[in-house]
Amino acid sequence: MAAGAAKGGAWLLGPADPTTVLTPEHLSEEQRLIGRTAQEFVDKEVVPNIDRLEQKDWAFARQLLRRSGELGLLGVDAPEEFGGVGLDKTAALIVSRNLSGSASFSAAFGAQGNLVITPILLFGTPEQKARYLPRLIAGEMVGAYALSESGSGSDALGANARAVKLPDGGFSLNGEKMWITNGGFADVFVVFAKVDGEHFTAFIVERGFPGVSTGKEEHKMGLHGSSTTPLLLQDARVPAGNLLGEIGKGHKVAFNVLNFGRFKLGAMCVGGAALAVGDSARYAASRKQFGKTIASFGAIRHKLGEMSARTYAVESLLYRTAGLIDASIALGEGSGAVLAAMEEFAVEASIAKVAGSETLDFVLDENVQIHGGNGFVRDYPAERHYRDARVNRIFEGTNEINRLLIPGMLIRRSLKGDLPLIGAARNLQDEILSGQGSADDTVGSFKKVALMALGLAMQRYGEDIAEQQEVLIAIADILIATACAESAQLRAAAATGQAAAFHADATAIVTDGAAATIETMARRLLAAMAEGDTLRTHLAALRRLLKVMPTDTVIRRRRIADETVRRGSYIFQ
Ligand SMILES: Cc1cc2nc3c(=O)[nH]c(=O)nc-3n(C[C@H](O)[C@H](O)[C@H](O)COP(=O)(O)OP(=O)(O)OC[C@H]3O[C@@H](n4cnc5c(N)ncnc54)[C@H](O)[C@@H]3O)c2cc1C
Repeated sequence: MAAGAAKGGAWLLGPADPTTVLTPEHLSEEQRLIGRTAQEFVDKEVVPNIDRLEQKDWAFARQLLRRSGELGLLGVDAPEEFGGVGLDKTAALIVSRNLSGSASFSAAFGAQGNLVITPILLFGTPEQKARYLPRLIAGEMVGAYALSESGSGSDALGANARAVKLPDGGFSLNGEKMWITNGGFADVFVVFAKVDGEHFTAFIVERGFPGVSTGKEEHKMGLHGSSTTPLLLQDARVPAGNLLGEIGKGHKVAFNVLNFGRFKLGAMCVGGAALAVGDSARYAASRKQFGKTIASFGAIRHKLGEMSARTYAVESLLYRTAGLIDASIALGEGSGAVLAAMEEFAVEASIAKVAGSETLDFVLDENVQIHGGNGFVRDYPAERHYRDARVNRIFEGTNEINRLLIPGMLIRRSLKGDLPLIGAARNLQDEILSGQGSADDTVGSFKKVALMALGLAMQRYGEDIAEQQEVLIAIADILIATACAESAQLRAAAATGQAAAFHADATAIVTDGAAATIETMARRLLAAMAEGDTLRTHLAALRRLLKVMPTDTVIRRRRIADETVRRGSYIFQ
């Protein structure tokens, strides 16, 4: 990390400085422009043609990727020397967010941009970059990422695919990769296999290489307009020059790529949620029952308010983190700085992935509900969106794996001395024992509960903490709720004009929900870690820490709902 750069996870240890927080209300003209380009492209060229994609017209999918290349979307954050636009990671996030109108196209775009262009940019040799990047960035060549296998999904390093070094320096690859997005029409694959059955390694494999083929399309629950196939490697001949990174360092390629991929997936989910809020509001305004529009019923206003507020919170978290990532990259140099920033903010990327995908699923479920019977039939898009979104909790690391990673990475960094978590937890424990420790503000109290939970869990389980998944997952939920609530609060603090009241409403709703989640999770954790008098002491400390006065969120949801219905769209954009 460059000196002076913000540290990932540091938000847990003290108050954030609101003046350094990036919000969607403070974007540059360049960032807005690329965002509009993405939005117009998807609205005019992708959404009206979704049926063609769903009928698996892969020539058309290629055409769309080509168009997105021409518009600079595939290379939004890639250097100009390879045909990229050279914008920052915030701009890349905005593009992912604004392409979300078609989840199927977003999957194709994401596989190409995040999972193929990014690793070649970060780990490719000058020759590999020159050979592949200009065509991938222009959308002339289509890429796919082949990590998973039928027997190794979450356990990606347990891959069976093998590589053997040949006398000419090249490699022979054997194995079968599964669920490969863009598999049906990709020209080039980033493939992971173990050299001599041991050293996990990345390769760039072209479809035209001998021994490379793809299998049949999977029949999926959703994303019918996205190609998903196996990749078959039968004595596939890969030239020496197509080794990506170093032998035995494939995990570096795989995991670093996933870090930023998760972050962009979060952005795509927020974009989808914002669109669904608008869809629900317009439907609720037009549908009449009992002589009134359903938008006038409290039950529906509650839904619209809650959907908007949850979307607002994850969106705030994403932009805030994008701002920190860009600031960190700006202090360093080249692809090394990008890699370091992605690693630094890996915890936040996992939070964005989990919170984004679960918020989207919540919002799309409510969207179906608001549409009633029409939500369940294919005449309305609510049904397709609902099916398409489900996979977001499965790929780019399942939400269980990401939840385990969130506290796991924080603990590891703290043990390495990278983040002074252990000391902070110890200080908090001393404060609690002396009858102090309560925070002045609500989010501050959330952070203290998170620290208390992390500290007690590390003390109780020591090195065996990895075996306590239920505990880690509950801590992750506390951390996710805290990060979202704080990000909303920081954004609301920066909001001005008439909109500021709606920002404050959304923040109050999210904070109220976070307090409930945090209390439930903390009680569950404490009861798992202690009993009798010790448990009673911990619970008393929790009550002292978590003194949150409820606010009237009913009126706040109604206000947001009514404004959403009046505008016919998500109001925070
Ligand atoms: C539409 C689609 C597109 C995809 N695209 C790609 C692609 O382009 N490239 C690619 O490489 N892969 C791709 N995948 C694969 C995807 O990444 C995997 O499906 C995912 O990583 C989960 O692996 P799995 O399916 O083997 O599930 P498993 O790993 O078997 O998991 C099953 C369940 O067990 C849980 N679990 C597993 N291990 C643990 C653990 N240690 N602790 C706690 N719980 C655990 C999981 O969270 C999950 O709930 C795609 C999948 C789909 C469905």
